[in-house]
Amino acid sequence: MNTLIIFKVLWLRRQLRRRDRWTRRQLEEHQTRSLRLLREHAYARSPFYRRFHAGLTDRPLQELPVLTKAQVMENFDELVTDPSVRLADVEAHLATLRGDERFRERYWVASTSGSTGRRCLFLWNFAEWATVLASYNRSFDWAGSRAGLTRRTKMVVVSSTTPWHQSARVGASVQSFWVPTLRLDSGDPLESIVEVLNGWQPEVLVAYASMIRLLAEEQLAGRLHIFPELVFSASEVLTDRARRQAEAAWGKKPFDVYAATETAGIASECELHRGMHLFEDLIITEIVDEDNRPVAPGAYGEKVLVTVLFSRTQPLIRYEMSDSVRPATSPYCPCGRPFALIDGVQGRVEDVLRFSATSGGQVTVQPALFHRVMDAVPAGGWQVVQEPEGLTVLLSGVQKGYVDDVLADSLRRELAAQGVIVPSVEVRRVLAIPRTGAGKAPLIKASVT
Ligand SMILES: [Zn+2]
Repeated sequence: MNTLIIFKVLWLRRQLRRRDRWTRRQLEEHQTRSLRLLREHAYARSPFYRRFHAGLTDRPLQELPVLTKAQVMENFDELVTDPSVRLADVEAHLATLRGDERFRERYWVASTSGSTGRRCLFLWNFAEWATVLASYNRSFDWAGSRAGLTRRTKMVVVSSTTPWHQSARVGASVQSFWVPTLRLDSGDPLESIVEVLNGWQPEVLVAYASMIRLLAEEQLAGRLHIFPELVFSASEVLTDRARRQAEAAWGKKPFDVYAATETAGIASECELHRGMHLFEDLIITEIVDEDNRPVAPGAYGEKVLVTVLFSRTQPLIRYEMSDSVRPATSPYCPCGRPFALIDGVQGRVEDVLRFSATSGGQVTVQPALFHRVMDAVPAGGWQVVQEPEGLTVLLSGVQKGYVDDVLADSLRRELAAQGVIVPSVEVRRVLAIPRTGAGKAPLIKASVT
């Protein structure tokens, strides 16, 4: 199986490389054709889409209703195009995941807690999963390196290591044969990450932006000694400061990658670093304001609506994600690729919490630590709020039988491991996670200053 998917990805890689030389017109024709095929498939095979788009099946994409995470989860069994797939079975499968197993020997499954804290599940068949892998590989290709998912390269990924995260699933698929990948948990203490990296000496470093910055500081301070050929930043905002520090530390500019579980790669930088090229041949990304109207170049949108052109098992058409993205004022890059540029991703609103340290002073705790702990909770939504008297964790839609003390204990344990004077932790069940005036429900909030 592993070999088959490798061949498929290599074949796709060739297809994707050809598209770099397409004209804008060729790209737009491809989008139109792919969108038609996706919609035909959805209307023929998904009872949900027949209902959801009733009376609109001939209307342009921009007139179709927006699909939310909540709708995907509430209509899961009818939205997927394989009638034998049931949400409850997929959830049970996910709970047993260890490596590269597939649901019913057929579907790769991953879950995201997403920016609103609601857990959402996604499935991919063989062809879709190969495209997911190929889309990630494109970022390596565009970085202009020999390294990548399709060449043996020592790679380290510092991110979430929970087995049901897509990054972990991708890692499990390419593991061993292709790319000796070391996965480190970004919630681990920095010292231990530095020590392991010094021993492993990666050729490629992939990490959350906040981790890139911390590691660059460690390298500049002389504690970290690694010499990666390529540095990729994913999942968080890569600030200018982080960029400059990474360049100072390793002598090369980091490459920013914008990806999500639902879509795989959405956009990536080319060797010219003029912004990120949208993967418009794989995904139609509409950058819109709160009323779902497209924003002007140079302005940040409130959210993005993605249509995943290769999705068949679980078609995603105008699916809403809360990322705030900015289309570039000059949409095209001198590299000649036909894909439009975005030059900013504000990402999700989350606070980095600070706690008193057992050794005196303060410790900052990255959002990733909470993501890791909270991802293990079978809840529909969650929010961690830091208040003067301690931490309050709100949970909504918790599965029957879950004991809240388990969560409080693991949070206390994880915080203690960070050298924090452990605060009181209160877990509270709520009907829904409260939202801000802007409609956002940040996962992690500080109400102390
Ligand atoms: Zn370019």
